[in-house]
Parts: sequence; structure tokens; C-alpha cells
Amino acid sequence: MLLIHCPHCGARDEAEFSCGGEAHIMRPLAENKINDAQFADYLFYRHNPKGVFLERWRHAAGCRKWFNAVRDTVTDEIIEIYAMGAKPKTKAGKEAFDSNWRRASAAEAAAKVGGKK
Ligand SMILES: [Zn+2]
Repeated sequence: MLLIHCPHCGARDEAEFSCGGEAHIMRPLAENKINDAQFADYLFYRHNPKGVFLERWRHAAGCRKWFNAVRDTVTDEIIEIYAMGAKPKTKAGKEAFDSNWRRASAAEAAAKVGGKK
């Protein structure tokens, strides 16, 4: 059982939380044109590493607020908790963010204002 540190409530049992899956998935803007395969990357495909993973969590049975976590999927160690909209600050978190295939995807480029690929 994990002990998760909610940034608003403190340490709580894992049973109070729900995992929202991969963090940092950017929605392509409507005015940008990407093809179906590129849109499928955004909509269906998720990063699934063996190791450090960036994911969203919600304190469902507590404050109900969302936050991000850097978690090692092998050891279940939670390396860092950080706010929604922020990026990880730890070395492991930064490396996981930068090395994710999504950073180079057309959908992510299309999610940035003026972004085209
Ligand atoms: Zn909370």
C-alpha cells in the first residue's frame, strides 16, 4: 500500500486516491491540422515505461484536488509531487518528461500556439 502525500492534506493512504493516468498530455488546438494517425497518438497512445513515470492523481476521498506525481513503476516509490500545470523539478522527473516520445509528437506540437509539424 502506498502512502501518498497530498499537497493539500498531507500523507494519506493510497485508498483515498485515484490515478488519472499519464500527465502532461497536451490537446491539439482545433485550428491546427494533424492527420488521423497523429491524432490517434494524442487520443489513444500512452507512455508506459518500466521505471520513472509522470502521472496525475486525485485525492478522491479527501480534498478532491488533482496533482502530478513522479513515480517509479518498478519500485512504486513516489519521487516527487508537484502541482498541475507545473513541470517536475527533480532530476528523475525532468529526464522522464524530456525523454517521453510525446515531446516529439505532432499532437504536442499542434497543442502549442502557432505550433505546426
Ligand atoms: Zn488532499
